[in-house]
Amino acid sequence: MSLRFNALNNIAQSKETPHVGAAKITALFGENVFTLQKARAFLSDEGYKSLIASVKGGKRIDRTVANQIAAGIRQWAESKGVTHFSHWFQPLTGSTAEKHDSFFTLKGDGTPIEEFDGAALIQQEPDASSFPNGGIRATFEARGYTAWDPSSPAFILEVGQGATLCIPTIFVSYTGETLDYKAPLLKSLEALNKSAVEVANYFDKNITKVNATLGWEQEYFVIDEAMFIARPDLVLSGRTVFGHAPAKGQQLEDHYFGSIPERVYAFMRDFENESYKLGIPLRTRHNEVAPAQFECAPIFEEVSVAVDHNTLLMDIMDRVARRHKLRVLLHEKPFAGINGSGKHNNWSMSTDTGVNLLAPGKTPKTNLMFLTFFVNTIKAVFDYSDILRASIASAGNDHRLGANEAPPAIISVFVGQYLSNVLKEVKERVGEKFDEQDEAILKLDLHRSIPELLLDNTDRNRTSPFAFTGNKFEFRAVGSAANCANPMTVLNTIMADTLKKFKKDVDALIEKGEKKEIAIMHVIREYIVASEAVLFEGDGYSEAWEKEAEKRGLPNVKTSPLAFDAMVTEKSKTLFQENNVLTHVELEARHEIELEKYIKRVQIEARIMGELATSHVLPAAIKYQNVLVNNIKGLKEVGLNEASYANQKQILEKIAEHVNILSDLVEKMIEARKVCNAMDNTRTKAIAYESQVKAPYFDAIRYRVDKLELLIDDTYWPLPKYREMLFIR
Ligand code: ADP
Ligand code: MG
Repeated sequence: MSLRFNALNNIAQSKETPHVGAAKITALFGENVFTLQKARAFLSDEGYKSLIASVKGGKRIDRTVANQIAAGIRQWAESKGVTHFSHWFQPLTGSTAEKHDSFFTLKGDGTPIEEFDGAALIQQEPDASSFPNGGIRATFEARGYTAWDPSSPAFILEVGQGATLCIPTIFVSYTGETLDYKAPLLKSLEALNKSAVEVANYFDKNITKVNATLGWEQEYFVIDEAMFIARPDLVLSGRTVFGHAPAKGQQLEDHYFGSIPERVYAFMRDFENESYKLGIPLRTRHNEVAPAQFECAPIFEEVSVAVDHNTLLMDIMDRVARRHKLRVLLHEKPFAGINGSGKHNNWSMSTDTGVNLLAPGKTPKTNLMFLTFFVNTIKAVFDYSDILRASIASAGNDHRLGANEAPPAIISVFVGQYLSNVLKEVKERVGEKFDEQDEAILKLDLHRSIPELLLDNTDRNRTSPFAFTGNKFEFRAVGSAANCANPMTVLNTIMADTLKKFKKDVDALIEKGEKKEIAIMHVIREYIVASEAVLFEGDGYSEAWEKEAEKRGLPNVKTSPLAFDAMVTEKSKTLFQENNVLTHVELEARHEIELEKYIKRVQIEARIMGELATSHVLPAAIKYQNVLVNNIKGLKEVGLNEASYANQKQILEKIAEHVNILSDLVEKMIEARKVCNAMDNTRTKAIAYESQVKAPYFDAIRYRVDKLELLIDDTYWPLPKYREMLFIR
């Protein structure tokens, strides 16, 4: 029996789901996290103070204190049955990495003891040569090390029966270049903090710290494990390269906010409980638009913690799904013809005085502050839309962006009618020149024109890649499998840079003798005029918008290999260098890594396509051809005329045509791949993989296979069909 029918049988027979205990969330929440509260209980006064200073103010922790902290963390971990520890980091592969060591060691005289000292807490040397480094380590030094990031709390990861203490770290090469997603993110937060505090001080001198906040919404698919295993394309590439659209797709729109299937519901509760223990504040769960698609979202947190929590969650979801004989698909486009998955990144900035800088305020003064940060964000996105686009590019996300579904590849900003009018009013009423009318500017009734109730009123535009939603911007073009650190690093950095310029521009006017508020209004006006082209309120999926965007000069790069170019332009190098986030060498290396990842993914997809076509689809087609041939022969033999087997003949002809073209296409694709593989330059190779392999062959091959799926006897078809994967649970 084929894996497909085995899977169908299994599902039909067993409907049991593992038991998931019902616990109060507050009782579980943070149970496995070394929170500051636990630190208080397990650390000496000195250790605790030093940790706090490091978490809150980025102060260095010295070695002797680190020893005390390490001892406290170990004591806590051991009280929870932990025997091993690991530095946990987020390498540029996109997943997370751990290397487990035990507390156990031998003293000089051979006495066994358990030990975890400051040195082990602060630094480790994982065998790093197998992580992507974009050529940095090949030319410099062969090793890298992980370094403790005290701003993110240690946690205990429970896998099966075991429990491991995980220390969040950054990953750096011996020559000092960062090799992970986390380190540049932390640097971008420093840059943002510096510029944002300076600008915020125009309005409130008490603000001494600004942090970025992130609330992600994670979309994903869930399918039965046996079906998953029967689809080698899903196993190897995360998406189905073949599969005819089911008779029923998402046209009934009956899945969204429909009731959650029981098996999936048990899985959700299970991974939620695991998440709560790790302090991930999950809040919502619901069905998504496509069949078998779901979403979860937490309460927003500071960006660096939110990023850790999202990467942890993706890992947890994958492991917990297996417990339930399910598989979670995080790929951006696991199934053709129905919606893909994104990860909306809700982003804002908050001050240490408790103010959300993107929330309209109650008074004209706080509203001017809001307007300042709001307009600076728009300007930042306009000036650096190409870099923002690059930050979300990947082989998987190419299936979404510009593919007539979720956000287009054109970066534009949606602000809603209300704020559009406010911007228009500012533009019209604040004159270009300075004159006696300036006093009138101050009378612009910002209080009335930006009411607080905006939050409930924001019109939603689901087609915009970057939408203002009342008190935050929602970056909707991020891919579901992505590490949010990358787009967040870019957003923080371009914002830091824009605010820095804003401060300079405002100060220049103040030096000329302008009143502060008037100077601010003038620069705001100037920025509105300069970045107007990026504002778009209409349907982002429409062809009309593509044309309009082109007229406006907005970039529209549809494929990743070209989108990545924006990472290494002079503009990008200056931006990241000046804000001390990434050096030229690091950018070049990251560019190389992204291209390599792209090449590998398309290469794997091409291989699995070739293999499935040759060893799954063609044999099934030939088997069925033989059935038809024998049938026709038999009918002839018993003396029936041609009319009696005309139909069979016709089907036979169709199958023969598809089979021939299919094998031909597969051969040609293999040839095209060989040509690409011989290329030396990574960028040229990535572009060639897109334009010479993917574009000309993927859809063409798929078309033939999907046609055959409809022609061949269902019992011969080896791959689980779309209807089975999407609708049977
Ligand atoms: P939806 O977009 O599905 O309508 P919401 O608007 O309620 O959902 O919120 C989406 C996400 O935005 C949630 O994760 C929420 O925590 C987050 N969010 C709310 N306020 C902020 C903020 N100030 N900064 C960052 N994220 C925020
Ligand atoms: Mg949303």
